[in-house]
Amino acid sequence: MQYQSLIENQKKYFNQGITRDLTWRKQQLKQIKAMIADNESRWLEALDSDLGKPALESWVTELSYITGDVDHVIKKLNKWSKKRRVSTPIVAQPGSSYIKPEPKGSVLIMSAWNYPVQLVFAPLVAVIAAGNCAVIKPSELAPAVSSLIAELVPKYLDENAVNVVEGAVPETTALLELPFDHIMYTGNGMVAKIVMTAAAKHLTPVTLELGGKSPVFVDSNIDINIAAQRLAWGKWINSGQTCIAPDYILTTKDMVEPLINALKQQITLMFGDNPKTSDSYGRIVNERHTERLSTYLDSGDIVCGGEFDIAAKYFSPTIIKDPALDSKLMTDEIFGAIFPIITIDNYQAAKEFIVARDKPLASYIFTKDSAKQNDWVANISSGSQCINDVIMFNAVPELPFGGVGPSGMGQYSGKIGFDNFSHLKSVLKRPFLKDLPVRFAPYTSLKFKLLRMIR
Ligand code: NAD
Repeated sequence: MQYQSLIENQKKYFNQGITRDLTWRKQQLKQIKAMIADNESRWLEALDSDLGKPALESWVTELSYITGDVDHVIKKLNKWSKKRRVSTPIVAQPGSSYIKPEPKGSVLIMSAWNYPVQLVFAPLVAVIAAGNCAVIKPSELAPAVSSLIAELVPKYLDENAVNVVEGAVPETTALLELPFDHIMYTGNGMVAKIVMTAAAKHLTPVTLELGGKSPVFVDSNIDINIAAQRLAWGKWINSGQTCIAPDYILTTKDMVEPLINALKQQITLMFGDNPKTSDSYGRIVNERHTERLSTYLDSGDIVCGGEFDIAAKYFSPTIIKDPALDSKLMTDEIFGAIFPIITIDNYQAAKEFIVARDKPLASYIFTKDSAKQNDWVANISSGSQCINDVIMFNAVPELPFGGVGPSGMGQYSGKIGFDNFSHLKSVLKRPFLKDLPVRFAPYTSLKFKLLRMIR
């Protein structure tokens, strides 16, 4: 088997216990930070080459995201990896009980192209913090970042514990035949099924970070300019290629025109009159995806933008009013620069619209009405939520990140990430003191009675 020796070597190394050592883990985490910081300009160039990402955007959402994550994890690691004491019931007394997080072994990290640095290294930080080895498979659709990862990881990290395999479907298929101890996959739901099927052969646990259509409800009692600024940022950052980008807006009739105007104003403020020439506006990942987006344009009224250039991988910030609900724009995840706005009767109708569809990765509400805010949190299921903003929950390190139902399973970020890549082992420790005889045969009616009393 093609990569058999890779995983065999990792398992041998893992079994020596080196990766369990907290000093080793912290040193590797510091090396991840150094790898990002020492090569900042090369990462920025690679992100520009793959996605036309503006440097500030790359720095905030990719590079400093990882270095900040490393700092947070190093600070908390001693605490997270300690024994976690739990109470011991009478039947197990005298004794003490605790949970001891232990590493799982070798973790395969398969990543997507839209945040090609963050989606490799944020999982890697959690995988190493938990004391595991890792095989990284970057996305072939972000080739400049993929080749930089392949070049730098062996220079900075322990080669016995962290390896990179570049490639596309054949390489990934070969990797998926191996008996990893955990697979972390970020990407689309179709491939997630392939990953989970392969994992099932070895009973390998999986974390699946997927996507979906993350809805927004905009109420009428809001500060429209603040809402529009946050929405425009969340939609058009990375040209809409963000898994937790607001996919579409539901709003009431009185709000449709004011919201469209406020969004248009924000587009001009952020990207000027011609976003194609703006240094603050990125590109679509490839010609295929630019063309895919162009086929969505006939789904409804284009009230803003609608320009594209397939060869230049450019797609302008676009707003489509009241698209057909059975159009691909409204049935597929958009994952691009188009923002549909749909007129809806009221809040209740918006809720019904959302719960009738797949559980999304995120759901957003803009309202000052605290009853609606509470109702939204209580009744809308999604991976995460923001009230009066979009995406920003991802800036809070201790909020878990992950989907629910078709938008994914398992979570990472902060302590949840550490736990996700750990086995939480249960330990009961008992002294050699004589036991109450109640649990031992011969069973008598007196023992039965006593047991009922102490339970
Ligand atoms: P992609 O094409 O980069 O694929 C992801 C990974 O799967 C790559 O490593 C690729 O090599 C591998 N792959 C592709 N086809 C395969 C096959 N047939 N067999 C085995 N492996 C295969 O990324 P994508 O799927 O286009 O990513 C976009 C999707 O990812 C969107 O739905 C988006 O919402 C989602 N996403 C989710 C998150 C999250 O954290 N939840 C983050 C980013 C993207």
